[in-house]
Amino acid sequence: MSAMKPILRMPERLTLPWLLLAAGALFVSMLITKDHIEQVTSAQARQQLTADRQTLERALVPQAQRAQAVAQWLANKPLIGDMAQRTEAPETQAWLDEAVKTSGMHWAALLDAQGDPQTSVTEEVRTALRQNKAALRAHHSTSTAISIRQGQDTVWLWLHPIESTVGGLAGQVVLGQTLNASWRGSLSGLTRSQLIFLERDRPDGPWVQQGRSKPQAAASAWPSQEGPSQQANIRPLTLEGHKWLADVIPMVPNDAYNLEGMALVMDPSALRAPWLGLVGMVLPVLITAFSLGIAWSAWQGLRLRRGLVSLMRWARASMESNSVVVPAAKTILELQGLANDLEALRRHQKTLEAEIRQTAFLDPLTLLPNREQFCTRFKHLQKSGGAKERCGAVILVDIQRFKHINEVLGHQNGDRLLRLVAQRLNDLLTDKHEALARVGGNRYVFHLPQVSASGAVKRAQAALAVLDTPFELDDQSIDLSAQAGVSLYPDNRMDGHELLTRAEVALYAARHQHQPWLSYSPTMDASDPASLTLLSDLKLAISRNELRLFIQPKVDLITGEVTGGEALMRWKHPTRGMVPPDRFIPFAEQSGFVKQLSMWAVEECARVWLTLQLGGLDIPLSVNLSTRDLIDKDLPGKLREVVERQGALPQALVLEITESATMDDPESAHRTLTELHDMGFKLSIDDFGTGYSSLAYLKNLPVDELKIDRSFVMNMETDLSDAKIVRSTIDLAHNLGLKVVAEGLESPKAWKLLAGLHCDQAQGYLVSRPIPAEDFLIWARSWRAPSVSEEHLTTAFADIL
Ligand code: C2E
Ligand code: CA
Ligand code: CA
Repeated sequence: MSAMKPILRMPERLTLPWLLLAAGALFVSMLITKDHIEQVTSAQARQQLTADRQTLERALVPQAQRAQAVAQWLANKPLIGDMAQRTEAPETQAWLDEAVKTSGMHWAALLDAQGDPQTSVTEEVRTALRQNKAALRAHHSTSTAISIRQGQDTVWLWLHPIESTVGGLAGQVVLGQTLNASWRGSLSGLTRSQLIFLERDRPDGPWVQQGRSKPQAAASAWPSQEGPSQQANIRPLTLEGHKWLADVIPMVPNDAYNLEGMALVMDPSALRAPWLGLVGMVLPVLITAFSLGIAWSAWQGLRLRRGLVSLMRWARASMESNSVVVPAAKTILELQGLANDLEALRRHQKTLEAEIRQTAFLDPLTLLPNREQFCTRFKHLQKSGGAKERCGAVILVDIQRFKHINEVLGHQNGDRLLRLVAQRLNDLLTDKHEALARVGGNRYVFHLPQVSASGAVKRAQAALAVLDTPFELDDQSIDLSAQAGVSLYPDNRMDGHELLTRAEVALYAARHQHQPWLSYSPTMDASDPASLTLLSDLKLAISRNELRLFIQPKVDLITGEVTGGEALMRWKHPTRGMVPPDRFIPFAEQSGFVKQLSMWAVEECARVWLTLQLGGLDIPLSVNLSTRDLIDKDLPGKLREVVERQGALPQALVLEITESATMDDPESAHRTLTELHDMGFKLSIDDFGTGYSSLAYLKNLPVDELKIDRSFVMNMETDLSDAKIVRSTIDLAHNLGLKVVAEGLESPKAWKLLAGLHCDQAQGYLVSRPIPAEDFLIWARSWRAPSVSEEHLTTAFADIL
C-alpha cells in the first residue's frame, strides 16, 4: 500500500499550489491596483485644483486690473487734483458714477488728505472708512488693494493717490466692493472642487472658516496657518478627520491685508469611486475564475487518483490471476490508453512466459513433458485434488543397455529410436488425465491418476509388452528390452519427485532381482520421508562436526590377534541421536553426496591409523567406498591427497568395494581399481555372495581380499548349505590368491568352523561391536581371544572341514 500513499494525496498536490498562487496573485495585484488608483486620483485632484485656481484667477484678476485702471483714470482728472474745486465741480459725481460703472465695483469715493470722504457715500461705507482710517492713511501714497472689515462682511478697496495741482498729495480715490454672500456664491459656481471661504479679523490673526459662529470657528479652526498664496501651492490637509488636497487663493488679488481667502479643497478618495467600482466588478470575475480553475484541478486530481488507484489494483490483481478486466479510466483518455498499453504488455509477457515455460518443460527430442513438468503436474493435482485423483500410479520404464545401442547404431539413430519408443508408449495412454514424460536419456514415466494397484501392474506389463515387439529402423530390426518400477500413491502424499524416486528405487530393485518390473515397497530403500528430510541435515553434518568414526576389529582366526579394523560411520544427529549408516548412506548414494562422506571417512581413517601407529598398534584400517566413488575418475588423485595430508601411507588403508559397485561400469571400475592398487592401496570385495559377480570376473580385478557377507556366516553353524557356500567361497578365493574375511562372526562355534575352513580373518559381534575410534587402542590392548577348542560341532558340520 506504500505506493498508494502519494497517489491518495494527488488531488491536494495538484490543487494546493494553485490555491496559494491564486491567492498570492490576487493579493499582490490588489496592492498594485490600490497604489495606482491613489496615484492617479491624487494627480487628477491636483489637476482639478490647478484648473480651478486658474478659473478663479481669471474671474478676479481682470476686475482688479480694471479697478486699478479706473482709479488711476479718475485720479488723473485735472479737476480732481484741485482740492478746492473737486467737491463742487458738477462733473465729479458723473465721473464717480462712470468709474463705478466701468470698474464693476460697488461704489467710488474721493478722500481728503486726512482720509475723510469728500463725496457722498452710504452711511455704512462712511463708518467703515472711518474705522479703517489708519489703514487708508498707511497706503495713501500707493496704488494698491486692501481689504477691510465691515460688520460681517469684508470690503475690497482699490486705492489710488491723488496728486495735488499745487504739488504733494491731495487725497485718495477709493473704489469699493463688498464681498457678500451672493458675490461669493457667484464664485462657488465657477469651480468643480469645493470652495471654503476663510477669513480673519486682522492681518496677523488666525484663519477661520467663514460663516461660523465664534465657538464653531474655534472648533473648526482652519488647520493650516498658511494663508492664501499668490502661486499655486497644493498640499495635503486633514480636515475633520478626513484627508484632502487643498490650495488657498487670496480673495483680493495683491491684497495688502489679506483678510479673506478661498480654500479649494478636493477629496481624492471621492475620485476613487469609479475605480473602486471597476475593481468591484473585476474582482468577483477573477475570484470566480480562479475558484473554478482550482475546483477543476481538484476534480481532475480526484479523477486521476481514481484512475491510478484502479490501475494499481488491476496491476496487483493481474499478478495473481490471469483473467482480470482492464479498468476503464472512463474520462481520462490518457489513462485509458495507458491501461490498454499495460494490458497489451501483460499479455505479451504471458505469451513470452508460456514460450519459456514450453522450452523449459518440454523434452525437445520427443516433445513429451520433461521431468520438471511431470513433477509440477502433481502440484496442480494437489491443489485441485479430488479424492479420486489421490489414488494413482507412477510407472518408470527404463530401456536397458541403451548406451550400447547408441554406440552401435550412432546417436542419430538412437534419437530416432527414442522417438519411436515415445510414440508407442504414448499410444498406451487411455484418457486425457494420464500423461507420459521422458525423464532421462532412456527413461520414460507414466502418470496414471486413476488406477488400482492391480491396474497399475497391468499397465506396467502392457508398457513392457509394446517394447518387446522389435523396432524397424532403416530395414534393421532392433530388439529392446525394458524394465519398470512402479510406485503407487493411495495415500495423501503426492510429491512428484518423491513418487519418481520411489519408482526409481523399485526399478533398481527389479534390476538387482532380475525381475521385469517391481512395485515399490518401503523395505526397498531408505527413502521414506523422514530420511528425505535428513538429507538436508546430512549436508551440514560435516561442517557441524556431527560425524563419528567407529572401528570394528578384524582378528586372525588362528592366532586370535587383532589384524585390522573396519571404519564404520556414525552420525550424531542433534535431535535424532545416533543415526546408523543404513539410514543415511543409501540416499546419500542416490543424491551423490556420499562422495563427500567417503572423503571425510578416508581422511578420518588415515588420521586414526596414525594415532594407532603412535600407540604401537600397527594394523591396516578398512574403509568403505560406494558405487558413486568408483565411477569418479578423479578418485585416485583425491584419495592420495587426503591420505598425504594426514601423513599416512596408502598401504595403511584397505578400500572396501561391493561387488555391484564394480558391475555398474566394469571397464572404468577396472581402470580405477588398477590405479588405486598401483598407488599402494589394498582392495577388498565387500558383501561377497549378495551380488551376481562371478569369481571369474573378480579374477581380473587387482583385489587383495574378499569379505564373505554376514548373511552366510551368521547362520553357518546351523545351516549346512550356508556353511558349504562359505567353504567353497574360501577355497575359490584362496585359489585366486585372495585373503578371506568372514563378516558376522557371532558365536564361538562359527569361529571354530571358520578356522577349520581356513578362513583367514573374521569380524563380528563375538569379537566386538564397532568401537568409537578413540577407544579402540584401549580395547585392543585388553583383547583376549576366546578359546574355541572346546566347542562341539555336530557330525554334519565336522564333516565339511
Ligand atoms: P558393511 O560394510 O557390511 O559393514 C558391516 C556392517 O555389519 C556394520 O554395520 C557392522 O556393524 C555390522 N556387523 C558387524 N559384525 C556383525 C555381526 O556379528 N552381526 C551383525 N548382525 N552385524 C554385524 P553398520 O556399521 O551398521 O554399517 C552398515 C553399512 O553401512 C556397512 O555395511 C556399509 O555398507 C555402510 N557404511 C558404513 N560406514 C560407511 C562409510 O564410511 N562409507 C560407506 N560408503 N559406507 C559405509
Ligand atoms: Ca564393509
Ligand atoms: Ca560387509
